[in-house]
Amino acid sequence: MIRLEQLCKRYQLGDEPVMALDHVDLGIDAGEYLSVMGPSGSGKSTLLNMLGLLDTPDSGRYWLGDTEVSALGEEARAAQRNRQIGFVFQAYHLIDRLSARENIELPLVLTGTAPEQRRPRVNDLLQRLGLERHADHLPNQLSGGQRQRVAIARAVIRKPALLLADEPTGNLDSHSGQDVIELLEELNDEGITLVMVTHDPNMGQRARRRLWMQDGQLLKDERDAQP
Ligand code: ADP
Ligand code: ADP
Repeated sequence: MIRLEQLCKRYQLGDEPVMALDHVDLGIDAGEYLSVMGPSGSGKSTLLNMLGLLDTPDSGRYWLGDTEVSALGEEARAAQRNRQIGFVFQAYHLIDRLSARENIELPLVLTGTAPEQRRPRVNDLLQRLGLERHADHLPNQLSGGQRQRVAIARAVIRKPALLLADEPTGNLDSHSGQDVIELLEELNDEGITLVMVTHDPNMGQRARRRLWMQDGQLLKDERDAQP
């Protein structure tokens, strides 16, 4: 599903060039569940932003499905991103003025889906995520765990093939963190490819495949034996 070949990304930090990604080769099959671990500054977020087409490499190639997305212009890249990729961030990034329901359905509104097609899909997600009673609440009326569930619902409302999560439990207590991870894992069980950046080894170890990064390089790629 995903193939990265010799991907490089360089940043300039003052006088110092930093290789945020240093010749990364990586293949990911559809339906995999990966965690990305490593020290702060090792390139985890940069890798996730590349996979999510939020950022472009300086060199190297990226295939998503049959498309070499590293060769696309901004507009075509955005179209791929909207169609295929969902994001979940540590800080939720919900819109404060919109209710839980409105946040979740926003991606459908933006792509012109008719209200009568939006409603069943949103209701279904609200129910699955145990958020029905909170549908009309604003983000600041929700707990952290509930906000992250709303953010996950928004990320998957358009049924992306790939779900990218950057420290999705970073702001949560261990109980709501556990809830959120289990929800992500359920979505993975249903077929979505899940890539999660975490610096929590207990979270990272749950993934069936674990990558470790250091200084922009993939240090280790470890996977469970097939059952
Ligand atoms: P991690 O997610 O593992 O903490 P990052 O991918 O955020 O690592 O960063 C990798 C390296 O690239 C770090 O040295 C960081 O300071 C640098 N970096 C990341 N993004 C930028 C940016 N937008 N501008 C300058 N340097 C950046
Ligand atoms: P994380 O906690 O996920 O590792 P960071 O705090 O390292 O995230 O970075 C958050 C965002 O800020 C990243 O998407 C990255 O692009 C940007 N960033 C990281 N380091 C720098 C930097 N030195 N200069 C500018 N932007 C940076």
